[in-house]
This record gives sequence, C-alpha cells and structure tokens, in this order.
Amino acid sequence: MSEKRDYYEVLGVSKTANADEIKKAYRKLAIKYHPDKNPGDKAAEEKFKEAAEAYDVLSNEEKRQKYDQFGHSMGPQGFPGGAGGGGFYQSNMSMEDIFSMFGDIFGGHGGFDAGGFGGATGGRTRARAQRQRRGTDLRIRVKMTLAEIAEGVNKTLKIPTYVKCDHCNGTGAKDGVAFATCPTCHGTGSVTRTQQSMFGPMQSQVVCPECEGSGKVITEKCSYCHGEGIQRKDVQVSFRIPAGVEDGMTLTLQGKGNAPRHGGVNGDLLVVVEEVKHPELIRDGKDVIYNLMLDLPTAVLGGTAEVPTISGRARVKIAPGTQPGKVLRMRGKGLPSTESSSRGDELVNVMVYIPEKLDEKEKAAIESLKGSPNIQASEAEKHRIFSKLKHIFE
Ligand SMILES: [Zn+2]
Ligand SMILES: [Zn+2]
Repeated sequence: MSEKRDYYEVLGVSKTANADEIKKAYRKLAIKYHPDKNPGDKAAEEKFKEAAEAYDVLSNEEKRQKYDQFGHSMGPQGFPGGAGGGGFYQSNMSMEDIFSMFGDIFGGHGGFDAGGFGGATGGRTRARAQRQRRGTDLRIRVKMTLAEIAEGVNKTLKIPTYVKCDHCNGTGAKDGVAFATCPTCHGTGSVTRTQQSMFGPMQSQVVCPECEGSGKVITEKCSYCHGEGIQRKDVQVSFRIPAGVEDGMTLTLQGKGNAPRHGGVNGDLLVVVEEVKHPELIRDGKDVIYNLMLDLPTAVLGGTAEVPTISGRARVKIAPGTQPGKVLRMRGKGLPSTESSSRGDELVNVMVYIPEKLDEKEKAAIESLKGSPNIQASEAEKHRIFSKLKHIFE
C-alpha cells in the first residue's frame, strides 16, 4: 500500500479553497480520468477514484473539518457510517457510488448506471437512448448430442414470443390512430424539471411521465391487444450453433426476444446449450474418453476391439501383451473447439476383464500356465509397466 496523497494536493486546490473551487477542480479531473475516456487504463482509473474520494471528503463540511484536523491518520470511527477499513476513509467508494455522484455534478438525471457516462452533452443522448423501451429477453435451452457438437447444428424453432400487435402497429391505440396530444407535455414528450445540484438549481429535460415520451395519449384502446401494443405469437427463428460448444454456453440473438408494450426495441433471444450425455463416451474438453473392457485372450494374444466414437463405431488394433491401464489415442476423433481449429482425440482406457467363472477345461488351461516363467513380470518389466501407468497412480 502506497502512502495516501493529500486530498488538497489530489484536487490541486489550496487548503483555503472554497466549495466552488473544489467542485470545479474535481469536475476537471473527473472528466480527464473518466474510465470511458481511458478504457483499460488502470492508472487513470486510480486517479479517477482518488479524485472522487478526495472530493467526497472535501465537499462535505464535517468530513473536511475532521480531515483538516487529523489528516489521513483519522480512524474510521470518526465518521458515523463511514469507512470500515483501517485508515482514514479507506477507498470503499464503489464505482457505482462515484457515478451516482455525477448525477449531481453534471446535472444529469441520476439514471446513470455504473460505467455510463459521456460528459454533459454525451450524457444526455445516452439518457435518452436508455429511455427507449426494451422488451424482455427470452431464454431457450437447446439439447445437443456430441455428434451435433462435433459438426455444429442449424436449428429452426417456433418460439412463443410477444410481438408488435398487427392491428395497432404496436401502439396500443385503436387502428394505430386513436391518439390525442399529451396534455402534460403538449406533444413534446418531455418536461422541464428543476433540481438542486452542486452548482445550484439546474434545469433538465426529463421524459414526460404521462405519455412516456411519445407526446401522445391513447383515446381509444386497440381491442385486440387491450391497449398493450403486443400479442403473443409463435415466431419461427433459425440460427446456427457452432461446432465445439460446451454445456451452458449461451448464444445471444439480438432483437429476437419479446417486444415491449407500446413500441420500442425487442429484447434478445438467449440460446443456452445443453449437452446430452453420451451413453458410452465421456467428454473432457476437446477429448472424449472411452473405458474399454478387453477380454483376456485378446489382451494376451492381440487382435482388434470395437469402440464407440462420436460419429459411430470403429475398430482399434490391440497389440499382443496389452496391459490394463494402457491408453490408446485415436487422433482427431475428439471434438473441435470454439477457440481453436485443432480437433481433440478419443482416448481409449484399456482394462482387462479377469474371468470370474470358468469351466473345468478353461481352468485346466490356466492351470497349465502356472510355473511358466513367462507369466511372471521381471523387476525391469514391472518398472517399465508401472512407469507407463503413472497417470493412474499419481
Ligand atoms: Zn406527455
Ligand atoms: Zn393492438
């Protein structure tokens, strides 16, 4: 932790600066170091926070007095409801707190969300854009098998969605025309509001609460949508889910969600991938794993074994003397990835089934092996085999 800079120094004002000077100094710094102007710049963000903190203290009569008296060494107990950290007013202001401060300092509407900003003029256009009604998002789940994930899939679905009412063109007014001029805003869609800010009374334009900015009021409701401007319909949507997706991944189809009441922009359609478990294969990222139970003669004598793959079935070669725990790698038989072009592998874990029931003849055959030097592993062979099975023991 570096030492805290003096708050007056941070804002670049004298100890005797008046409220107005402090305000002006802070405003300048806030604009200069605002994260929207310095995207990704950590140093600027720190300066931004530091200035906000300094301003928070120096703009408050009581806090400023205590700060003048005790400096940064002042404990948090000095401030009822103040910081919870060790030293003076630890930076416990969230970015949200800081942004909400802008509502006052820039005479905005207090409607900024964290990260939202744009200076005095930019703020206004943004605030207006925010006021545009937006429909809700729709969320659907799409089940995908490994085979579908391997190739990607095109889907066409009918989804019950709120859409603009045909009869009133989404307005909610009978035939889309039964309107009168809003008596509150006289058709302008906005009203002037005077509010107290740190610069004194400030006037701002706010959306008319009666007509919600449209400038018009409905005189007769559309009878099909009961004045809502929306109707429920099965809407056909087509989209592609790319190859290599994983369970829980979400695809966003912008504007394919619900329409809002009384017109505006549609919400989004969120398509959530749900991976259907393969009955035999286990997915491990780009790779798939299959546990193969080999019979004893094939493990001993060699041969082939059938294994499932994402696209069907395949035969793998089994070398004579294949040990349990051996992993056979089938290159490129795994899945693609959404992040790279390389494909994963299929890993076949070999296990060997030791028969639990044998008839007399079979028992005799095994019996005859007893005492043969070939059925005992030498120390060197043990070492070689175990070292290859490290993945099991580690
Ligand atoms: Zn109005
Ligand atoms: Zn309607």
